[in-house]
Amino acid sequence: MNNDKQSFKSGFVNIIGNPNVGKSTLMNAFLGTKLSITTPKVQTTRHRILGMLNGENYQIIFSDTPGILNPKYEMQKRMLNYVFSAIEDADLLLYLTDIDDIKKVNENIISRINKLSIPVLLIINKIDLHKTSEIEAAELFWKKTLPQAEIHKISALRGDNLPELLNRIIELLPEHPPYYDDTDAISDKTERFFVAEIIREKIFLNYRQEIPYSVDVQIEEFKEKEDITVIKAVIYVMHHSQKVILIGKNGTAIKKVGMEARKDIEAFLGTKVFLELRVKVKENWRNNPNILKKFGYGE
Ligand code: GDP
Ligand code: MG
Repeated sequence: MNNDKQSFKSGFVNIIGNPNVGKSTLMNAFLGTKLSITTPKVQTTRHRILGMLNGENYQIIFSDTPGILNPKYEMQKRMLNYVFSAIEDADLLLYLTDIDDIKKVNENIISRINKLSIPVLLIINKIDLHKTSEIEAAELFWKKTLPQAEIHKISALRGDNLPELLNRIIELLPEHPPYYDDTDAISDKTERFFVAEIIREKIFLNYRQEIPYSVDVQIEEFKEKEDITVIKAVIYVMHHSQKVILIGKNGTAIKKVGMEARKDIEAFLGTKVFLELRVKVKENWRNNPNILKKFGYGE
């Protein structure tokens, strides 16, 4: 080509994989900011979250998605639908695995991926945790399972091989003008959404068993005043007994969540924050299509 100006590249780079393999950690690492919440628990991410990365000659639109699962209730069906949509509309698919999850391969997803005509990168994450022999065994497995995929080995947490992976992603992006004009925008989701996510993250970190999975967080008020942002959030649970656990003796448990969340929200918004948390019961909200829609879990 004689063009002295390099052509612009842009496209949708969708990250899918089993729960807990590090999908959100990887997107955050590429964006250089903690956009998606991450915890050691499975099914932390419930939505499809776009993250934009703008370079001089490229715009990557990453999608972080919920982990692949066998849905047991309506919310999980919608979570799996976000994964399917991410397989369908990708320009480049990143299938993330963490070696340990080889035993939990979802055949349906694998056959969908093998039918794709777009490039697929099979990414073995968490190499910091494994011996070379284990990593090589995983590579052999994936060569057979996803023969068209190009294999990369990384540590999203430590950053190993991430610059190389990013370069390869840019190489594989289609030539296309930027999809989003606003190059300061980092996501399609609002500040309110991420504030609710930060609160949900603290609930995932502070409670055990079924509590994190019975909870949703909705922001009822978000007022930016001159020197402080006033935020009122409601934590919905499914049963009264869960409300009792969430609040804790003399409110100590919920206070801890509030303090931890406020600290992170202040860093995220760059302002001082007044945070009020209330707990309400909404019976079986996870199976109620109307409530799910209201809570932002579109079909
Ligand atoms: P997701 O469910 O796939 O989005 O996974 P997360 O990004 O929430 O990460 C799940 C857990 O794995 C978190 O505790 C992360 O800190 C951890 N993790 C992610 N990437 C790595 C990695 O490269 N090495 C190690 N040791 N841990 C990681
Ligand atoms: Mg996640």
